[in-house]
Amino acid sequence: MLYNSTQNAAEKVEAAQAISQGISKDGGLFVPQEFPKYDEATFKALLKEDYRGRAKKVFSDFLTDFTADEIADCVEKAYTEEKFGGSNPAPIAYTKLNGRPLNILELWHGPTCAFKDMALQILPHLLTKSLKKTYDGKDAVILVATSGDTGKAALEGFKDVEHTKIIVFYPVNGVSPMQKHQMNTQEGANVKVCAIKGNFDDAQTGVKKIFTTPEISEKLAENNMLFSSANSINWGRLLPQIVYYISAYCDLVNDGKIAFGDKINVVVPTGNFGNILASYYASLMGLPINKFICASNSNNVLTDFINTGVYDKNRHFYTTMSPSMDILVSSNLERLLYKLSGDSDETTRAWMNALKTEGRYEVTDEVKALMQEKFFGGFCDDGQTQATINRLFKEDNYLCDTHTAVAVNVYEQYVAKTGDTTPSIIASTASPYKFSRSVLEAVSPDGILPVNEFDMVDKLNELTGMPVPAPLANLKDKKARFSDVTEANEMPAYVLKALSID
Ligand SMILES: *Cc1c(COP(=O)(O)O)cnc(C)c1O
Repeated sequence: MLYNSTQNAAEKVEAAQAISQGISKDGGLFVPQEFPKYDEATFKALLKEDYRGRAKKVFSDFLTDFTADEIADCVEKAYTEEKFGGSNPAPIAYTKLNGRPLNILELWHGPTCAFKDMALQILPHLLTKSLKKTYDGKDAVILVATSGDTGKAALEGFKDVEHTKIIVFYPVNGVSPMQKHQMNTQEGANVKVCAIKGNFDDAQTGVKKIFTTPEISEKLAENNMLFSSANSINWGRLLPQIVYYISAYCDLVNDGKIAFGDKINVVVPTGNFGNILASYYASLMGLPINKFICASNSNNVLTDFINTGVYDKNRHFYTTMSPSMDILVSSNLERLLYKLSGDSDETTRAWMNALKTEGRYEVTDEVKALMQEKFFGGFCDDGQTQATINRLFKEDNYLCDTHTAVAVNVYEQYVAKTGDTTPSIIASTASPYKFSRSVLEAVSPDGILPVNEFDMVDKLNELTGMPVPAPLANLKDKKARFSDVTEANEMPAYVLKALSID
């Protein structure tokens, strides 16, 4: 299987090249030239497999330049019982709201308690094997600018992975105390964490600058290293996400919740559009999905886009209690546009250029119609988010985080508007304990809030009886290893020193 760029269909590379490179030279994103189609017999065979077996099958159909042994090695190393707290890394919780079944696909049982682990636990293994095929013998240096969740998930994924080093930068006052402590206590011989004096954009700009400074790249090359990226447009992060939709469908059938062949809806709390796009890709492979319900918070640029066909990022930016969805440019949307425009690189390029220069583009009526046939967009604000957490907990004793609550709220709006009662999967993207403050306020609106975030975790546990995930429970007693703080313009020097090549 070969991969094109969304902005240049003539570009054709193998999976290992797409994963090593991250982004195409023309600035486009790598997409499979065609999607493998699964027939009834294939899906029936997957019913009998566990998560790892299903993952191996899906990976082998997309990574045709990897051997079966290489794929098995990646999957077995990533989705261990130890790391995901059970034999199924992505179990479904069957709960209900308003008397209606709610199938919640819990994607947060990994080491950092957010769904990014589903991809970032396997990406390092895919990447090291890809690099071996394309740039043999070099060590990969991963630089990450993070506003919280991605940095920790990347650190956990890359820690002690051979032939990799990872350096994470975060804005000194731009992450929660919990997130800061999660990163600063990170274990592993190949990791570094540094705060920068500035905001997330400063960190991001700093990283981009390092990537594109030739003298720094040369210095790395002299020392047998090269830069690589772990961000969410890398094909190696998207592919693992296709697996859990297929696996969840199999689980629904095996658990007797749907009959084999029945259609389902998926509901996804969306930021960069990677998670929901993975479900769309699963449907292109034959998974019977009826509707993709795209849930946003007050940063509702995607809701407007799905409803009007106009994407316009020139609007107020809200800081919400579902921060991983506080995004105005959803980068993975580019891959959907490419598909809906009939694999047109020219059309995709024109829209992406308009987005860059004017912050806005409008798709054709044809693309809009195709999109609206499959996608529903909705949003809710922080008040509605907390009300949803409260109702779900009161009605069925199920505790969800703020991002998941946005999805549940938008799902209710969808059902009210359309009357469509097709069985649905709600993607749950974080443990409620990761956002203890907002969740605690939601279940106990009149309670007194503890000052310290770790005390909030304990209080929430006391109130709800829901177990605290081990990685968060142990955190309080861990000693910080990292305390570096640097100016944004000192980042290049910091990187060279961290790699001992200054
Ligand atoms: C990253 C993230 C999202 C958004 O996912 P996308 O793939 O970027 O749309 C939603 N919820 C949580 C908790 C996240 O960490």
